[in-house]
Amino acid sequence: MSITREQVMEQLKTVMDPDLGKDLVTLNMIKEVEIKGVTVNVGVELTTPACPLKDKIAGDVQEAVKRVPGVQEVTVDFTAQVRASPQQQASESNPLPDVKHVIAVGAGKGGVGKSTVAINLAVGLARQGATVGLLDGDIYGPSFPTMLGLDDLEVTTAGSDTIIPFDVHGIKCMTIGKLVETDKPLIWRGPMAHGAFRQLATQTAWGELDYLIIDLPPGTGDVPLTLAQLLPLTGAVVVCTPQKVAQDDARRAIRMFEQLQVPVLGVVENMSYFIGDDGKEYDIFGRGGAEAMAHQMAAPYLGGIPINMALRANCDAGTPLANFEEGSTLGTDLTRMVQNTAAQVSIQSMSGDFVQPTISVS
Ligand code: ADP
Repeated sequence: MSITREQVMEQLKTVMDPDLGKDLVTLNMIKEVEIKGVTVNVGVELTTPACPLKDKIAGDVQEAVKRVPGVQEVTVDFTAQVRASPQQQASESNPLPDVKHVIAVGAGKGGVGKSTVAINLAVGLARQGATVGLLDGDIYGPSFPTMLGLDDLEVTTAGSDTIIPFDVHGIKCMTIGKLVETDKPLIWRGPMAHGAFRQLATQTAWGELDYLIIDLPPGTGDVPLTLAQLLPLTGAVVVCTPQKVAQDDARRAIRMFEQLQVPVLGVVENMSYFIGDDGKEYDIFGRGGAEAMAHQMAAPYLGGIPINMALRANCDAGTPLANFEEGSTLGTDLTRMVQNTAAQVSIQSMSGDFVQPTISVS
């Protein structure tokens, strides 16, 4: 008796996407079932190329399809198609309709590694195959010209009001640091900050993007409010170092996003610990502090990044891709953070409980 597609699909209905909590058939992730004698090839379309559960899903698909009588071999092919967030789809006045997800990266205080995380998140997502833009929304202290090695590049424009983003390290990026003189202090009053950020976000020719990562200024000022009013955000990542004072500030940042009705995708613990030349791990700031805070605030924990000299050196040299050296601990930690964030984006955008934000300022 020959194997039928219906039999295979019946078994695939038992395979759950562990993050999304539904089966692959219901989620419309099965794109192909090819039966050749006793071999079945299943094409699975993931919701992000940075899916951390590929191996688990492949194993579960193989196990399930092998339950169909007569099947001896099962192969699984993965493709990925990032699905636009419901926020994106629901918004009628969205100035960036070709961007599927806008993700803000914020922090309670400066110097905790917010820009470092934003940059590595963007470059890391692009390394996994996503189309990514990165906006330096830190209009008070733009650090991208250095951290992305943009110093020798000239800004180009198309027409009078469109800025062409820089195409570097596999991503498109833009920063106010390339549009103003960087050694002059950037003093913006509220409305000016609003206008500068708005122009930077909407007049850059991003094109089609799976993810636009926005590095916010530290704290709870004007820019997050402008951003939440301007663009449909899928969510925000909060960066925090482990010590108590940093946690307190991060809590305020989390509450700010909640007040703006921006879902918190999770917390990254930066400068989590330090590995000395002796190979020993030193918990300088109290490793686990930000993770514990995330759990208390019911926010997902996206992973920890140790204090690492190469990371600092690559930031100073403007070479973020070097952080992802194959087999390095740093590369592994960063990739985990990238994949966990991508998974939270998928969970958030497929949870179906989106409410259009209403902003009230008091
Ligand atoms: P923020 O955006 O929060 O102000 P940055 O990302 O600009 O912070 O980081 C501040 C400085 O700390 C930069 O020089 C950066 O290279 C360095 N840095 C950030 N995270 C780490 C880390 N995990 N290990 C080593 N240096 C780091």
